[in-house]
Amino acid sequence: MMDAEIKLTDKLERKLPPQLMDFLKSAGKKAAERNEKAYIVGGVVRDLLLGLANYDIDLTVEGDAVALAHELLGNIAGTITVHKQFNTAKIELEGWNIDFATARSETYARPGALPEITPASLVEDLKRRDFTINAMAIGLSGKNYGTLYDPCNGKTDLQEGKIRILHDGSFIDDSTRIWRGLRYEQRLGFQIEAHTLELLKRDIPMLDSVSGERISYEIDCIFKEQHPERVFARAYRLGVLNKLNALIKFDKPMEEWFARAREMSYPNAPSAVLYWLLLTYNLDIDNRERFISYLKLPKRISQAFRDCSAVKDRLELLSASGISNSEIYRLLTGYSPQAITANIIAGDVEESRAALNLYMEKLRGMKTIISGSDIMQMGVEQGPQLKKMLDAVLDARLNGEVISREDEIAIVKKMLKE
Ligand code: ATP
Repeated sequence: MMDAEIKLTDKLERKLPPQLMDFLKSAGKKAAERNEKAYIVGGVVRDLLLGLANYDIDLTVEGDAVALAHELLGNIAGTITVHKQFNTAKIELEGWNIDFATARSETYARPGALPEITPASLVEDLKRRDFTINAMAIGLSGKNYGTLYDPCNGKTDLQEGKIRILHDGSFIDDSTRIWRGLRYEQRLGFQIEAHTLELLKRDIPMLDSVSGERISYEIDCIFKEQHPERVFARAYRLGVLNKLNALIKFDKPMEEWFARAREMSYPNAPSAVLYWLLLTYNLDIDNRERFISYLKLPKRISQAFRDCSAVKDRLELLSASGISNSEIYRLLTGYSPQAITANIIAGDVEESRAALNLYMEKLRGMKTIISGSDIMQMGVEQGPQLKKMLDAVLDARLNGEVISREDEIAIVKKMLKE
């Protein structure tokens, strides 16, 4: 099963940074001293063969991965996090993450359940994986250093641009692989191979067997891609998106929203929150709430969903002709910037866009010169009157009615006289 012909020593040493390579070599050596073997596995092997940079290293150990990680850390300055429950460890070293796991096989008690894990050989470990292109390893220990292990012919699929599962029950065991397959296909510009595609379509109903949290993890991974819209467009055409929410129609305009989100966030990548808001923009409030509870989305995202709906409800008001800056500010203050940006991108009240943009670019950052304590020194006690005065000063500043500190004080004085 091992392809003894293929040595990737050169590729390894040329593609990975020297310090990381030194660490990996010492991992291989230390494992050999312990009569164990360590391998680089998964995505990094795929990307090395494709000539792509990937410094998220997964190591599989035929032996005790956690003990090996601890021993290695003895020699270097890094931090270690251990997950006893999964028998895995992560070492963080100079901005790189190296994950250690004991080689294992997995069995599924029922579709969609988390697997039961038993220690196993490298080849068994590779055979439990999602796709052939992710089921390769490179040896690090002893004479196996640099050897490619490819029991499922991943290298050929990589050359031919194919996404292929390892056995016909793969999507039934774990239907999150459906989303993963679409993600790799679109990221790499590959094709899901014909038989895999047939099984994928057959097993779409299995997505109901997976928890909302696991699905939302996969969706978050899609949001980290360079072009998430390609994955959703494909998922929509295949009927996969339908399982996430039957009311989301991922059409051309939605694809353009995603591209616009990138333009507006440049040079940063758009936040996942903004993508979540765009994906669900056309859902009404009830459906959005159902979506939030199905996916168990964290508070930070669910609050942004609610903000987005509230801003959407204000678009007509924001499009009123002659609306003042302070009115715009009062309509939008307190809502999350992503909720406002989502409405700039996807809102269907064209006339509101100028107000939304003005708020984001200028108004939301504006402040009064004087503060509450300045007003208190003028004899006003903390409470609603003070708040009213501060608001009036801010409104005047937003509307360009004051320039200096004295102008602001004059407003307070005038209010004190009223
Ligand atoms: P990416 O480049 O997207 O990070 P990756 O291949 O490193 O890709 P991870 O999600 O970090 O992806 O997973 C690491 C490896 O674990 C994968 O390459 C694959 O071999 C395996 N794997 C991950 N998720 C699954 C799954 N649901 N079923 C089977 N194998 C999986």
